[in-house]
Amino acid sequence: MGFVEGLRCRECSRSYPATALHVCDYCFGPLEVAYDYKAVAGSMSRSSIAAGPSTIWRYADLLPVSSTSPVDLGAGFTPLVRADRLAAELGLGELYVKDDTRNPTGSFKDRVVSVALTKARELGFKVAACASTGNLANSVAAHAARAGMDSYVFIPSNLERVKIQTTAVFGGKLVAVDGNYDDVNRLCAELASEHPDWAFVNVNVRPYYSEGSKTLAFEVAEQLGWEVPDHVVVPIASGSQLTKIHKGFHELTTLGLVEGGDSVRISGAQADGCSPVATAFADGSDVVRPVRPDTIAKSLAIGNPADGWYALDVVRSTGGVVGSVTDAEIVEGMRLLARTEGIFAETAGGVTIATLAKLAASGVVRRDERVVAYITGTGLKTVEALGDQVGPSATIAPTLAAFAAIEQEGHQS
Ligand SMILES: *Cc1c(COP(=O)(O)O)cnc(C)c1O
Ligand SMILES: [Zn+2]
Repeated sequence: MGFVEGLRCRECSRSYPATALHVCDYCFGPLEVAYDYKAVAGSMSRSSIAAGPSTIWRYADLLPVSSTSPVDLGAGFTPLVRADRLAAELGLGELYVKDDTRNPTGSFKDRVVSVALTKARELGFKVAACASTGNLANSVAAHAARAGMDSYVFIPSNLERVKIQTTAVFGGKLVAVDGNYDDVNRLCAELASEHPDWAFVNVNVRPYYSEGSKTLAFEVAEQLGWEVPDHVVVPIASGSQLTKIHKGFHELTTLGLVEGGDSVRISGAQADGCSPVATAFADGSDVVRPVRPDTIAKSLAIGNPADGWYALDVVRSTGGVVGSVTDAEIVEGMRLLARTEGIFAETAGGVTIATLAKLAASGVVRRDERVVAYITGTGLKTVEALGDQVGPSATIAPTLAAFAAIEQEGHQS
């Protein structure tokens, strides 16, 4: 473990030590973790990975920490499910679902938080903090509890009730802010400068946090027998996850663990009610204009995405697209995935499936491609999005006659 060279500015390439820094002093560009890939190549092989734990930590050589005892609730190495029934409905061929509903707190955020808090602990932080659209709140509160750290979690006050309760139960400080995520995020940027002794996972330790998303690429390649997909579909909030999936496939290619990682097409998915990246893509624009979110996909409701431009750049350079879907289509997408594959995803998963359906219908995602859809969170936290669209098939008296009556009706209709 421990092949980090330091941090590097994504804009001007200036180098910085691997401490709690996130923007370049010279050009205000975002900082990114740089590795000594020659040294990684000497340590990491397909067999060394296979001998590792069934978590993200099997890829520790490509994660920005040196600790051999990570803050770990078991995030990662989630199933890659061959989705033939869904493929048939969508007119696709070889389709997989990366089922990240199966993480410790039910979303892919456990990957990034496990990495962020491991690094934070190494840097001597005793307090973990974040601005969250919901899933990050769950994950930071849970991992902080696991690490014995205090936590301060800031959320928009209109979050799904379940996400509030399933965060509060871990016992840290949970502060509901009257405002949307972008208001919460602005407050947290101010708090972060007042409290340099707090590790804000998506502010001052963001470069480390975001590296955790690379494991979404590593796992898919390993689970495909060290091959890469042709096309992946990824939901976009801040855009961090999408850019790091791209970096993950690139790193595997650099290390010679796969071939063709740089030609994976990467497409993004957003909700119409918060689609700044999809709008920029459709307009052929380089500018991601902030919007005021209004969608049931609250986990994706970031109106001013920090990595929006970089996500757009990845999509364009890999030959993908960014699509967007309505709230009604999101619920349809959730129901389609549940009905065809037995996987209950949250609204963000509905965004991904509904966008995939559109891209398949328009021929952008092709039948001859090997496709992976990233399903990033569990439906149990966003049950309210289903409203009364689903419910009992019938409600009857406890008698055979009553059951026979509805069976009869069923046959007639
Ligand atoms: C946070 C989140 C995303 C998007 O992550 P970004 O890296 O901010 O783009 C996607 N799906 C779910 C369920 C999330 O909670
Ligand atoms: Zn710079």
